[in-house]
Amino acid sequence: MNNNKKIDISIVIPLFNEEQSLVELVEWIKRSVEPLMCNYEIIMIDDGSTDNSWKVITELSQKHKEIKGIKFIRNYGKSAALQVGFTHAEGEVVITMDADLQDSPEEIPELYRMIKEENFDVVSGWKLKRYDPLISKRIPSKIYNFVVRKISGIYLHDMNCGLKAYKNIVVKSIEVYGEMHRYIPVLAKNAGFKRIGEKVVKHYERKYGTSKFGVERFIRGPLDLMTVMFITHFSKRPMHFFGVWGLIMFFLGGVLTVYLLAEKVYKSLNNLPTRDVTDKPHFYLAIAAIIIGVQLFLAGFIAELISRTSPERNKYIIEKKTF
Ligand code: UDP
Ligand code: MG
Repeated sequence: MNNNKKIDISIVIPLFNEEQSLVELVEWIKRSVEPLMCNYEIIMIDDGSTDNSWKVITELSQKHKEIKGIKFIRNYGKSAALQVGFTHAEGEVVITMDADLQDSPEEIPELYRMIKEENFDVVSGWKLKRYDPLISKRIPSKIYNFVVRKISGIYLHDMNCGLKAYKNIVVKSIEVYGEMHRYIPVLAKNAGFKRIGEKVVKHYERKYGTSKFGVERFIRGPLDLMTVMFITHFSKRPMHFFGVWGLIMFFLGGVLTVYLLAEKVYKSLNNLPTRDVTDKPHFYLAIAAIIIGVQLFLAGFIAELISRTSPERNKYIIEKKTF
C-alpha cells in the first residue's frame, strides 16, 4: 500500500453522522501533517451513519490516496469503530481523533514526535480549556477523571480524550469493545505498556451536528470501570476474587452457627431459659452468609472454566528476543 512504502502515521477517525465536518476535517489534517514529509494514511470508519457521511468519504477517498474508508452495516458504537480502525492501521504511530472538528489535527506532529522520540507507548490528549457544556460534560468529566485516576493509578487528566497517539504494537495488543473506548489507557497499561504520557491539546466547540453521547453514559461509564478493573486484576484468575469473598462469607456463617449452637447447648445444660434458634436474627444471617458463600464459589468455578477456554488465556506480548 502507498507504493509499498512504510507508513509512518495512521490517523484513525470513528464517525457517526458527521457529513458536514468531513471535508473540512480532511483539509485540516492534510495541512497539519504534510509539513512532516512522512507517509500517512487516514482511516475513516463510518459507524453506520444514516446521513451522507459515507458518500462524502467515498468522494474524498477518490480524491486523496491517503484516505481509506470503512463502513459498518449499522451503528455499533465508537469502541467498535476504533477497534476496526486499529486492526487496519499500518502506521508506526497510530493517532485517533474525533471527526467533529472538536479535536485539532495541528496536534498531530507533536504527538507523533512524543511517541517517536520520547518513546512513549501512549500519549493522551488533555483538553485543558474545554469547549463543551459545563453541567452535562465538563463537571461530570472532572469527577469521572478523578475517580478513574484513583482506581486505575494512571495519572491522566482527561482519560476519555478522543485525541490520542499510540505505538502500533499497543493498538494491536488491546481489544476495545462495548464502550471501553473510555478506558483505553487502562487497557494499554494492563497489556504492559507503562509509558503513558499526556499532552495539552486545543479543543473547539462542536461546529456541526450534535453530541452522540447522552445521559446513559452516567450509568454505563461506572459499570464499565468496574468491569475494566475486574478484568485487569482477575481475568486470568477469577477464583482469587470470588473465592476470597466466598471464604469470608463462609467464615461469617460458620462463626454465627457456632455461636448459636454454643449458646443453645450452654443454656440447656445450665437450665437457663432458651429461645428457638429460628427465633433469632443470627440464624437468618448465618443461613444467608452460607448461601451467598456457595454462590460465590460457584461463580468462581464457572469463571475459571470460562477463562480456561478464553482465547486470551495465553496471550503474552514479547518485548524482545535474542534470536
Ligand atoms: N461516534 C461514533 N459512533 C457512535 C458515537 C460517536 O463513531 O456511536 C464518533 C462521533 O462521530 C465523533 C466521536 O465518536 O467522531 C466522538 O463523539 P461526540 O463528538 O458525539 O462525543 P463528545 O465530543 O460529545 O463527547
Ligand atoms: Mg465531540
